[in-house]
Amino acid sequence: MAVTDFFDRGWRANPDGVAFVAGDRSYTYQEIGELSCRVAHALLERTTGREVKGAVLAGNDPVAWACVLGLWRAGLAWVPVNPASPPEEIQRLLKGFDCEVLFCHERFLPTVEKLRTDLGHLHTVVSLGSDPDAASAARAVPFEQFLRDMPHDRPRHIPSPESVAGIMPTGGTTGAPKGVMNTHRGLTVSAVQQMLAASYSADETVVNLVAAPMTHTAGTLTLPVTARGGTVVVMSRPDPVELLDLIEKHRVTELFLPPTVIYRLLEIPGVEQRDFSSLKYLMYGSAPMSTEKLRRAIEVFGPVMFQGYGQTEAPAAIAFMRPEEHFTDGRIADDSRLSAAGRPAPLVRVEVLDEDGTILPVGGTGEICVRGDLVMKGYYKAPDKTAETLVDGWLHTGDVGYLDTDGFLHITDRKKDMIISGGFNVYPSEVEQVIWRHPAVQDCAVIGVPHEDWGEAVTAVVELNPGAELTEDELIAYCRPQLGGIKNPKKVVFTDSLPRSANGKVLKKDVREPFWRGRERL
Ligand code: AMP
Repeated sequence: MAVTDFFDRGWRANPDGVAFVAGDRSYTYQEIGELSCRVAHALLERTTGREVKGAVLAGNDPVAWACVLGLWRAGLAWVPVNPASPPEEIQRLLKGFDCEVLFCHERFLPTVEKLRTDLGHLHTVVSLGSDPDAASAARAVPFEQFLRDMPHDRPRHIPSPESVAGIMPTGGTTGAPKGVMNTHRGLTVSAVQQMLAASYSADETVVNLVAAPMTHTAGTLTLPVTARGGTVVVMSRPDPVELLDLIEKHRVTELFLPPTVIYRLLEIPGVEQRDFSSLKYLMYGSAPMSTEKLRRAIEVFGPVMFQGYGQTEAPAAIAFMRPEEHFTDGRIADDSRLSAAGRPAPLVRVEVLDEDGTILPVGGTGEICVRGDLVMKGYYKAPDKTAETLVDGWLHTGDVGYLDTDGFLHITDRKKDMIISGGFNVYPSEVEQVIWRHPAVQDCAVIGVPHEDWGEAVTAVVELNPGAELTEDELIAYCRPQLGGIKNPKKVVFTDSLPRSANGKVLKKDVREPFWRGRERL
């Protein structure tokens, strides 16, 4: 059982089929398959059986993905490095996760070269580019030279299911970043879950569009696509207008988008007239979504909205909400259903636990905890953090929520994001749901801000729709009847753009930073 088995299934069945499309260039299964095998042989020759970590620093590029497959074939752990990261972050990941090999797109070579004085263990930098001068200036090996005359066949080495396939950086939204060790078994279960949840008949063609960074879990979302011999259309950056063009041009059948990108698509003039008839699933998740906008998305894209709730520690899914579950009695369901995260996904046990670790009955609010083969092995070189998170076989997600009588899981909030105001617990997501309904609002983040009387004052940081006008008093007055005195925002701050991760997730820690500077809670 190795993660590469998914790609290899498509390769065997459909060698001349198009596995990836990036701009005007297509790549067949044979091309990417052989390339990944050559990468693996080159890695095996250089690492001679040691458990080396290999980082990939590149944009959304099929050749970079062949390097990830190559690392897996060689039994080495992949460390994804987001190309949007500042140099200090790149250095922190390469150093903190002990990377000895780096596949690096040519345009990042100068940055890496500057960092290298403090990266003594990084012995091989492979330049993914065609300029030999750029490579030699950065003491990097050109890709072609790295591959030399390596064989094109699959290496004999088969990684054990328990071996680490990825050390995924996480924690950016709430705490200090950590490295999640996902095993081959874990990522395999995750891909099988997706195949079980998204039912395709044998003769259907799958065309998946990847707009999110492949350097994170979005890359692993391609595994079930290639297992079906489908095509992955790769976008180098998630430009909303281009995204609509690509859906039409390639007759895309499925794609994953975070809520913030969906909000932008819904703002595009004439979006209702575009052709979404090829779409079977528009998967969303990674952050809570406004039910107002979800309803509009169903009207615009059709009955294709498909939610996934998961986390890096348990990818991809703890729960799914399938398209038909967004409807009751043939109509779009009400907010109490649309605000759910879905029903527990296959192959995972999901329970809500109280502070003592006891399983709560249906309706009880507590911490969402999961167990199953998809759960991470632990945090890289952080046994204390691992012990806090994996307790008695349960992964503590840090999300607070409850299961309803229909079996739907509701996330009320992140444990760390909860605001204690005037002695009461305020769940920011409840306040955000109300603010999102205001027609002038594009997106918002609700946080607690230190306050003499309230302890923490509920504060909304709001991004408006282009050209929209709204004052602080107007928004506070709009929310009051729906939220009452305690939960209602005491302050509204307008911003041009909320801080977001590369996956489009609002970074609450960074939103809080200016308000809490020099104090404890972040
Ligand atoms: P990450 O590990 O960066 O992917 O973040 C995982 C966290 O994002 C989860 O623990 C949730 O707090 C949040 N999240 C992911 N998917 C959803 C979803 N569908 N609805 C609400 N929150 C979500």
